[in-house]
Amino acid sequence: MLNIENLHAEIGGKQILKGLTLRVGAGEVHAIMGPNGAGKSTLGYVLGGRPGYEATAGSVTFDGADLLDMAPHARAAAGLFLGFQYPVEIPGISNVQFLREALNSQRRGRDEAPLSGGEFLKLARAQADALGMDMEMLKRPVNVGFSGGEKKRNEMVQMGIIGPKLAILDETDSGLDIDALKAVGDGINRIMRAPDKAVILITHYQRLLDYVRPDFVHVLADGRIVRSGGPELALELEREGYGAIAA
Ligand code: ADP
Ligand code: MG
Ligand code: MG
Repeated sequence: MLNIENLHAEIGGKQILKGLTLRVGAGEVHAIMGPNGAGKSTLGYVLGGRPGYEATAGSVTFDGADLLDMAPHARAAAGLFLGFQYPVEIPGISNVQFLREALNSQRRGRDEAPLSGGEFLKLARAQADALGMDMEMLKRPVNVGFSGGEKKRNEMVQMGIIGPKLAILDETDSGLDIDALKAVGDGINRIMRAPDKAVILITHYQRLLDYVRPDFVHVLADGRIVRSGGPELALELEREGYGAIAA
């Protein structure tokens, strides 16, 4: 599904990714762990097409198409979803408005008919219910005044409504209490654990991986993948730290 080959990328002329290779197949969950400043978030931003994050060498294909050649909205329409460590607040726009517009713009990009207000609300209610989120919260401005846990639950509601093929979730577990962590983990499993979908989970901690069991764990250090393994690698990292493994 996603094929990253020898990716180099820079921000403002500073090289951050230095030859990163990673292949993600349909049905797989990959965890990426690694020390602060290794380039984990940069990888997510480069894949999402954030301005200022420039791929300078290497290639990325998504379902065979050249991802780096696509505009950010085209990447989303193709099924890529990015979840961020700090979800943005958007005063003046309700979650419902925002999500309906996001979903319908992606549907138009795939030549699918937009959902009517009624159809959309039905979908939104089902996803909110599944995350244990009050529908009233979806009528409030996007993330404004939400607690950290509520923002992450909201992000899972967004993911459930959008229905992406590949989700890249960047430290989606940071700052969550146990209940929110479990809700987010359950959400990832319910929405994304399917033979035709895949997940890249960027995390510092093993604990999310107790809920969402990865098929592969990778260590990203200094701009490249320096080690790959199964779920046991996350436990080894937790025990021994990155220093011993990334050296
Ligand atoms: P991680 O997510 O693994 O902690 P990041 O991808 O956020 O690491 O950062 C990788 C490196 O890129 C760090 O050295 C960081 O300081 C640098 N960096 C991130 N954003 C910028 C930016 N906007 N301008 C310059 N350097 C940046
Ligand atoms: Mg970081
Ligand atoms: Mg980061």
